[in-house]
Amino acid sequence: MYRNFAIVPRIIFGRGSFNQLADILKQRRTPGGHMVFVMDDVFQGKALEKRMPLAGKDYVLPVNVDDEPKTSYIDKLVAGIKAKGRGVPEGIIGIGGGSTLDIAKAVSLLLTNPGSAADYQGWDLITTPGVYKVGIPTLSGTGAEISRTTVLTGPEKKLGINSDFTLYDQIVLDPELIAGVPREQWFYTGMDCYIHDVESLTGSFINEFSRSYGEKSIELCRQVFLEDHDNRDDKLMMASYFGGMSIAYSQVGACHALSYGLSFVLGVHHGIGCCIAFNQREEFYPEGVAEFKKMMKKHDISLPQHITAGLSDEKMEVMTTVALGLVPLWENCLGPDWKQLMPRERVRQLLARM
Ligand code: NAD
Ligand code: ZN
Repeated sequence: MYRNFAIVPRIIFGRGSFNQLADILKQRRTPGGHMVFVMDDVFQGKALEKRMPLAGKDYVLPVNVDDEPKTSYIDKLVAGIKAKGRGVPEGIIGIGGGSTLDIAKAVSLLLTNPGSAADYQGWDLITTPGVYKVGIPTLSGTGAEISRTTVLTGPEKKLGINSDFTLYDQIVLDPELIAGVPREQWFYTGMDCYIHDVESLTGSFINEFSRSYGEKSIELCRQVFLEDHDNRDDKLMMASYFGGMSIAYSQVGACHALSYGLSFVLGVHHGIGCCIAFNQREEFYPEGVAEFKKMMKKHDISLPQHITAGLSDEKMEVMTTVALGLVPLWENCLGPDWKQLMPRERVRQLLARM
């Protein structure tokens, strides 16, 4: 069976396109309604916050992403919005990196679906469309702007709310917004995109759809991270979008599976966790890892070492279980016989080396 998947229906791209946000939202506004701007708190008091096109009872809801999004945080934000007594907002606008984009998606869904965000971690468990939502990346690489998931850490697992309803209704891709990202963060999140491309292009699930997007995305990553271009922010923003489209119809692989384990137990953020895992994956991705090392050298990046050293047996076991739980990722990387090729003890050894 071929998957019949939805994509983001409306996209605006270009430097300064953020200035058109007021017009875009105007079409969705009704008398007495209001919208909530879910904004990364890194922009509090900054110029970008002042540019939010607030109207009527709209407000900015700053969110903190020091920790990657948790289901309990989503529940708290949704309860806070409801407690304002202004009714259900008619728009949620997410402004930030992958974490904030995921928070805004989840908030939109939980405003119209009962219970906790943790109830919906999995595939196609959402039954009611969320509130109209707009995603505006300020950091590029994750592909969260285009994906049908919102990755959340719950009490038991790190797993997305995967559904067609999770997709943004509109995205605004304005390369000017990613100009001020600190260098290391820019690199780690950009490498998330590069790793999406390598894992998609070399995986057993590859098809011409995913290859078309993945090849363009990896070419843009090479221009951004190995060459020098004035418009590198434009290129990285499109690489992220294309990388997201590539994995939408294929899958990521072993590096992502291992990084989920690191993230669940140690709270390591996605971008850097993928870099740590990828740096040692020559056996799966020889050419990709060699090129990645060149990119690290050019941008003078040194990764943390031995982050799993000294972890208790219990924690190593949890980490191994989380990593092994990502079945489609292993299957994409190693094919249908992945269980023979990657017994539990080997996964644990790979994690222990990081
Ligand atoms: P992030 O959103 O966690 O942000 C990283 C840091 O950069 C934060 O401190 C943030 O405040 C800061 N930041 C963001 N924009 C900035 C700017 N313009 N200037 C200065 N600082 C800025 O980082 P990320 O790598 O974009 O996202 C990682 C998250 O995305 C993880 O939670 C991961 O699980 C998720 N993710 C989601 C998908 C998806 O498809 N939904 C895919 C991959 C990753
Ligand atoms: Zn990723």
